[in-house]
Amino acid sequence: MDFESNHSSPVLADPASTNSSRLGIYSNLLPYSPPGGSLSSSKYSRKKPGKLDEVCSSGWLDAMKSSSPPRKKLFKDGSDTAYSSWMVMLALLLIICHAFKHPSALNSFEEIAKFAKNKKIAMFLDYDGTLSPIVDDPDNAFMSDDMRSVVKNVAKHFPTAIISGRSRYKVYQLVGLTELYYAGSHGMDILGPVGKASMSNDHPNYTESTTDQQGKEGNLFQPAREFVPMIDEVFRTLVENTKGIEGAKVENHKFCVSVHFRNVDEENWQPIAQCVQDILDKYPRLRRTHGRKVLEVRPMIDWNKGKAVEFLLESLGLSNRDDVLPIYIGDDLSDEDAFKVLREGNRGYGILVSSRPKETSAVYSLKDPKEVMKFLSSLVTWKKVEEGGCILNNRRTIL
Ligand SMILES: [Mg+2]
Repeated sequence: MDFESNHSSPVLADPASTNSSRLGIYSNLLPYSPPGGSLSSSKYSRKKPGKLDEVCSSGWLDAMKSSSPPRKKLFKDGSDTAYSSWMVMLALLLIICHAFKHPSALNSFEEIAKFAKNKKIAMFLDYDGTLSPIVDDPDNAFMSDDMRSVVKNVAKHFPTAIISGRSRYKVYQLVGLTELYYAGSHGMDILGPVGKASMSNDHPNYTESTTDQQGKEGNLFQPAREFVPMIDEVFRTLVENTKGIEGAKVENHKFCVSVHFRNVDEENWQPIAQCVQDILDKYPRLRRTHGRKVLEVRPMIDWNKGKAVEFLLESLGLSNRDDVLPIYIGDDLSDEDAFKVLREGNRGYGILVSSRPKETSAVYSLKDPKEVMKFLSSLVTWKKVEEGGCILNNRRTIL
């Protein structure tokens, strides 16, 4: 629960509409055709009051405010010290409750290791806010060399995939490890292992055995491929319509578009929300989701990071096995889909990266990317010891 917000439902992702097919693709999807007319390409100007009311009443602004902790003060201070004390008490209570509900994965490491014994761990990692710190400019969200080295070691021992909201190419550029599998655009662009997943059966957007720009071979699955021209058009429109809003940054992730407002004055958040609402009005096959100080526009298909985890597990031949323990580490709302898949199937552990209490489907928590690095290092060390023990036992048996 976000204690600095009145938002009653902290899970902000918009639910997609129903009618999904076996493949998880909405049955009303048709090949892309441009809408009747493009949006105004002129610089952003304030829209008619009705539209603004729509944005305000829909709770967007509340959601935008609660999408990331404020940088400076958690509470208003000043003359009302009793109120501040009460808020501090409330915050402490929430932290204690959260610690009970979602204990630290570091403090619970023995418990996790005990459960993982004799199991094959499959590791899924978000990128921003998980492997790299959240920074003002998303282009500068670099992971440290130490983190890269740890992730490389993780991949030596466990099948490992990065599932990011960024484009697959961009996240590969940032991580730079060929040992991993990559899923970009919230799992809508997967270059997975060569094993086939039944979720891709007969899907027109599934390509067996392809080689990407990095020379890596794998099977490509892009369930929203027909949306690429539409997303490109939306990207250009949003760039044009937000260029008058200082600090706004629009990114094209190939299958979705992000509008960052981290560096935008709060008084201009409403125009940002309006620009996105205009897009949704014009393109009914797109939907909006939230991240940390970012609004995202993505295809209305029943596909998310949770589906991507299921897809990768099946491609790896690791689904529906009692001897497999998937672990997913992420910090954002889009990661909740993956946490839910693991929790509901009782299949593995979701680990939320957050320095504050949040409603989550994750089992454990870690405070920040530094703690993620410690946890991953501990897992590698534990695995080495376990493997060493197995080798020793086998030698004793042979002797
Ligand atoms: Mg993230």
